[in-house]
Amino acid sequence: MAKLYFRYGAMNCGKTIHLLQTAHNYEENGLKICIIKPSVDLKGGKNIVTRIGLKRKADIVLTPKMNVREKVDLNGLACILVDEAQFLQPDQVEDLWKIAKLTDIPVICYGLRTTFKSKCFIGSKALLELADELEELVTICSCGSKAKFQGRKVNGKFVTDGAEVAIDGMNDVTYEPLCGKCYLEKVMGIREV
Ligand SMILES: [Zn+2]
Repeated sequence: MAKLYFRYGAMNCGKTIHLLQTAHNYEENGLKICIIKPSVDLKGGKNIVTRIGLKRKADIVLTPKMNVREKVDLNGLACILVDEAQFLQPDQVEDLWKIAKLTDIPVICYGLRTTFKSKCFIGSKALLELADELEELVTICSCGSKAKFQGRKVNGKFVTDGAEVAIDGMNDVTYEPLCGKCYLEKVMGIREV
């Protein structure tokens, strides 16, 4: 019985690089994989893109209404890899879980755990509920501590309000990985309990 994996971390923790490396490892051994990207992630169009310039076309760009089971051809597949999995719908996560359990094809999802408001994305919540293996990919806050959160900046200033989804690098939006203490101090402006 294959597993559903959720490899999560803050912005800039190298999730997509990890995904591309995993894809390469499978293909090097002549194994067929399927890379899925939710359409909500507008960055790179049909491509999976990384900060260091590596990119690759996704096999399936999944819209929120699409049924995973109808879209993915499971024939001869060794693994399913999902980038930006926080943007999946809960029923899509459930379908991926069923695929792992009932067809013995492992599914590896990469994504953020929380939004810039430090709340779970609906896709991440479903993954935290169903994944067999949770693995944190670590990145570091500017203070040197482990970053668990990300603050959203608009024109270089932290914001606490706005739409749940705003893509990094678009409309003057950027993100900064932060530890809990820096998140409270820098984003929320809270320095005392
Ligand atoms: Zn910090």
